[in-house]
Amino acid sequence: QSDFQALRELGAKHITKGVGRVTEGIMVKGEGSYVYYDDGRKMLDFTCGIGVTNLGHANERISGAAAKQCMQLVHSQCSIAMNEPYLRLIQRLLPVMPHSSLDSFFFWNSGSEAVEASIKMARYLTGRQNVICMQGAYHGRTYGAMAVTKSKTIYSEFTGPWMPGVYSIPFPYWHHFNVPPSTPTSELVSQSLYQLDLLLVQQIAPKETACIIVESVLGEGGYVPAPPEFLKGLRQTCDKHGILLIIDEVQAGFGRASDGKGLFAIEESGVKPDIMVIAKGLGNGFPISGVISRRELTDRLKPGSMGGTYAGNAVCCAAAAEVLDVFREEKILDNIAVRSNQLFTSLRSVQSSPSLSPYILDVRGKGLMIAVEFASPTSTTSGVITDVGVVQGAPEKMASRVAKKCIEKGMLILTTSVYEVIRFIPPLNVSEEDVKKGVAIFEEAVSEVVR
Ligand code: PMP
Repeated sequence: QSDFQALRELGAKHITKGVGRVTEGIMVKGEGSYVYYDDGRKMLDFTCGIGVTNLGHANERISGAAAKQCMQLVHSQCSIAMNEPYLRLIQRLLPVMPHSSLDSFFFWNSGSEAVEASIKMARYLTGRQNVICMQGAYHGRTYGAMAVTKSKTIYSEFTGPWMPGVYSIPFPYWHHFNVPPSTPTSELVSQSLYQLDLLLVQQIAPKETACIIVESVLGEGGYVPAPPEFLKGLRQTCDKHGILLIIDEVQAGFGRASDGKGLFAIEESGVKPDIMVIAKGLGNGFPISGVISRRELTDRLKPGSMGGTYAGNAVCCAAAAEVLDVFREEKILDNIAVRSNQLFTSLRSVQSSPSLSPYILDVRGKGLMIAVEFASPTSTTSGVITDVGVVQGAPEKMASRVAKKCIEKGMLILTTSVYEVIRFIPPLNVSEEDVKKGVAIFEEAVSEVVR
């Protein structure tokens, strides 16, 4: 115990302050849906390390596959020689792609790097410079990824100028148009697509525009699924002008926002991405990401133009290949469908309770990527003056207060966006009892904050 105390003190002094922290203490162990701290605390984990350990902490099969690979070959450097797990991973990914045209794979380490690689590819392949992204988007904190991140100024303030040629349009989320949550999605979609058309006639010529990058579910911007009609509209605009469509499935992919049928959130829309970016759940905690495109496009890249020391690391690829085997053999998609239904139903029942309903504006999401949005007493937390989401008598900073109470009661949970949003990211193999337990903790926490 005293050794941990010394380490805590060391961390307090020597970890760069730019690293944020939601809980105190040291996480020492993870097992399935639970994590353990140095002081003995056991927590139900409804964050999955922000949508990463989707098949549970220290999953025996995935850790086992990685350990086995560790004793065989850790690093080949893929531009020196391809390693076996790299190829086995492609073998497993090919049949689960949202579209058979996605048949060319490049693996990297993090979501941010993969996002940057996708933009680099799009610029090179089109010979065009401009990039269109979404208001509220999060794509990462490295320089290029940060340039297309539009969810919070904290990620980029006083660090510019950023990658040039980036423009944004409002993602179809009611806050972005200052209209009530009850506004029909079709209206939000046509407003967003109208802004896109306007951008392409007023500010940047389509023939100078390389790509549109969009999350299939707006993540750090508030857990708002991209409406299928919006994705179809983006696809049409891209087709009309030869612009490439990049779909970021970093957080929503690998079952997180699945409808129980496929692994990727984009599938519901039937829209075919030109480039798809994956990470997080792909490695269940092992750092690996991917950029997937069409051979007909990527065959035009110059060998050596894409890569990095650890890109396609053998241990991470072995873990990721096992992730896909676990998905298939343990019928994870079936569990997602059932638990998603349970979580939605229970959260909506919390929302409908007479004492809480005035303060819960919205329960939304897809699969097991679910958000609850609260009201705000004066304006939004972002300081933007608006009547939308304002309810007289609602508690201040409700989302972060609810999250704090949940943590005190033994459940890890996160807020998201500049609005009052709590996000539920349980493991995809979570049990019925643990969903029940999580919702009970949440309901207790909300009731205490409202009281
Ligand atoms: N894209 C999306 C949609 C994300 O949610 C994230 C991470 N939260 C990233 C990209 C960046 O990934 P990473 O943190 O692995 O760089």
